[in-house]
Amino acid sequence: MSIQFGPDYVRAIAPYQGGRPIAEVAREFGLDEARIVKLASNENPLGMPESAKKAIALAIADAGRYPDGNGFELKAALTAKYGVPAEWITLGNGSNDILELSAHAFVQPGQSVIYAQYSFAVYPLATQAVGGRSLVVAAKDFGHDLEAMIDAIEDDTRLIFIANPNNPTGTFIPGHEIESFLKRVPPNVVVVLDEAYTEFLAPELQYDSIAWVAQYPNLLVSRSMSKVYGLAGLRIGYGIAQPGITDLLNRIRQPFNVNSLAQAAAIAALNDTEFVKKSAELNAAGYHQLTQAFDALKLMYVPSCGNFVLVKVGDDDGAGARINLALLKQGVIVRPVGNYGLPQWLRISIGLEEENAICLAALKKALA
Ligand SMILES: *Cc1c(COP(=O)(O)O)cnc(C)c1O
Repeated sequence: MSIQFGPDYVRAIAPYQGGRPIAEVAREFGLDEARIVKLASNENPLGMPESAKKAIALAIADAGRYPDGNGFELKAALTAKYGVPAEWITLGNGSNDILELSAHAFVQPGQSVIYAQYSFAVYPLATQAVGGRSLVVAAKDFGHDLEAMIDAIEDDTRLIFIANPNNPTGTFIPGHEIESFLKRVPPNVVVVLDEAYTEFLAPELQYDSIAWVAQYPNLLVSRSMSKVYGLAGLRIGYGIAQPGITDLLNRIRQPFNVNSLAQAAAIAALNDTEFVKKSAELNAAGYHQLTQAFDALKLMYVPSCGNFVLVKVGDDDGAGARINLALLKQGVIVRPVGNYGLPQWLRISIGLEEENAICLAALKKALA
């Protein structure tokens, strides 16, 4: 008999399934890497901004030294951008780090954590890793049902995760609904508002969550540099909250959780408003291109506010896996979402115009 290590709740974790790497798919299907189109991980199809590449080239001279563990310059850039004190900022090795740190800081084994059905896969992972009890609230029209989430709060609830826009469904909660939700959450329950895609929102949908942080000591706003800012490979994100939360996150994070190249690139990217604008415009055009084609193919999709679209590719529970395989064979990588309980759907990230076109042609063939 082999020894079983670790607590039951750790052994019960199903590993995160990411988008498949290009090199891996090329090897498995005997394809040319250069011709593979990857629309599986909601990355920026423009890649890293030139401004960030330049910043990295300069910062590399010092990469033999430890990074600034307090991220002084990056926090100064965030302070300038958002008008919050440096003491309100936590830097993360990706915003994933912020999500994990929240679970570690606020949840004891057995205590409950609330999140929505069909919301980000890291919420159950972070909850389980600390032995938390997941209270999964049924989705409403593929998105968050905030009323039901309030009703789900129990005496031992310590944390609520909300993704806005949500991944993998792309659904959006209007700002005023989140604000009235915050008013009703008990003050001892931390709300993590995960805004990994907020920069893609159309101007009329944008809201000021940073202002709420001043009002709600139990609110933690989480932001990513992986999506619109094009820095996914560097791993950098940040959280904004009052010191009652930020102090704790900073105590349990690794002393050097954000590397020096990521810090340098992030400062450049944060100030690169041209790049962000261009990326958001490209995304809006790509969304139009994909959804028009879905309409023509009579495919149902969930209207999305992110840089991806959830599309239904069949009526049987094998549909997602089957169409995904047919796309892989044609060198197109998208994301099957059976692990989210959506086996009839695929999540397709919005790419460059020609990438979207290749994906759509392959999809048409796969459906035929
Ligand atoms: C992509 C994503 C993140 C994490 O991104 P990082 O690369 O870790 O910054 C967090 N939340 C949601 C909803 C996401 O889709």
